[in-house]
Amino acid sequence: MKIDQVSDSVYAVAGTNVNWALISDGSGVTVIDAGYPADTADVLASVRQIGHQLTDIAAVLITHAHLDHIGAIPTLIERVGMPVYTGAEEVRHAKREYLQQMTPAGMLGQLRTHRGRRWVAHTLRAIHGHIRMSVPSATTSDPTTLAGLPGSLVAIPTPGHTSGHTAYLMPAEEVLFSGDALVTGHPLVRHTGPQLLPAAFNHDESRTRASVSILAAQPARTLVPGHGLSISVDADTIEHGLALQHTSGCSLR
Ligand SMILES: [Zn+2]
Repeated sequence: MKIDQVSDSVYAVAGTNVNWALISDGSGVTVIDAGYPADTADVLASVRQIGHQLTDIAAVLITHAHLDHIGAIPTLIERVGMPVYTGAEEVRHAKREYLQQMTPAGMLGQLRTHRGRRWVAHTLRAIHGHIRMSVPSATTSDPTTLAGLPGSLVAIPTPGHTSGHTAYLMPAEEVLFSGDALVTGHPLVRHTGPQLLPAAFNHDESRTRASVSILAAQPARTLVPGHGLSISVDADTIEHGLALQHTSGCSLR
């Protein structure tokens, strides 16, 4: 685990090939995403390392309900009992009314490359025993509730990676939490910088691409993605990074 303070109140934490974020307003903490099941101890430790107790957690927001973003939630609910919020459509995914996740065939396809084999090995270890995890208590949040949490956040529907994928903006410090709608790196991909995840991860590729424009339009100066390093951004950085990706063909696509 590696914790980076990216603004006055925001800490980006890198776990097993995935990030979560903590927003501290002094008295409370909002957690955005929750790592793999195997990251649970680190999620708890990260809250303590920024000077808080677990009971300071006011809520967990999830960008989407993939296993690498919900791992610590069952333990946090047991220990803290805080609410878990996500987008209205993503609530259904979190409850596993349906599952939009890379298929076993997609996973097998990654075994062709060295990077892929290493990523599959990490992933299987990180989800071991928890493949059927869900978040039955997930609910959607109204704007007033989100604004009242540490960080005063705004939800930004960004469908595509999953149908209910939701990014979050913290206007006060101009920090954009993009989840997997826009990342800056991934173990399967050599290059870094703003980019989409490889298409095999995205439920709906064209909606994923459309959601990037929504993110590029946000008044953000810092991007905290679901995968890769946090970076300074403006709308041009995002569009330019993606344009490079399209022309150079350096992604796996
Ligand atoms: Zn995902």
